[in-house]
Amino acid sequence: MHLIDLTRSDTQPLDFDQRLRLASESWGEDVVRVGELHLEGHVERTSQGYHLGCRLEGEATLRCVRCLGEFALALDEQVELELIPAASAPREDETRLGKTELDVVFFDAPSLDLAYVAAEQVLLSVPMKPLCKQECRGFCSRCGKNLNEGPCECPPETDARWATLQQWRPSE
Ligand SMILES: [Zn+2]
Ligand SMILES: [Zn+2]
Repeated sequence: MHLIDLTRSDTQPLDFDQRLRLASESWGEDVVRVGELHLEGHVERTSQGYHLGCRLEGEATLRCVRCLGEFALALDEQVELELIPAASAPREDETRLGKTELDVVFFDAPSLDLAYVAAEQVLLSVPMKPLCKQECRGFCSRCGKNLNEGPCECPPETDARWATLQQWRPSE
């Protein structure tokens, strides 16, 4: 557990600097593993609750959706969270708390699990469809060869819809 007692920042901002490893079960299938994460930042009291600002650094190993190869994604994210007591959370029929760009987290007890913050941020950082490189060619759909390693022997694919056009020749 990497719990921070938020009330410790009631009188003055609380700095933290932690290294943590997250349990591996929580990731989707595109994430092979997440290395040790470094979180460094501070918590401070605000009029409504608390503010957390921190930097998250580390590395995740992802699986490319095209070639299924593993590749590293460097994580270097700035996290800004407004922590507000659940008791003062807006009801559903009220609008969200102003037009803030900050993420808002409502809490029941004034403690914050840094592992939760880190896990959320890692999931936000992982692309929907991870690619080892933008131009990854993936596998040939016919012979299964990894086309990043070179072209395969398959003849060029012809689209059946064009077959009649290819036979068409202008009459002389
Ligand atoms: Zn790839
Ligand atoms: Zn092929």
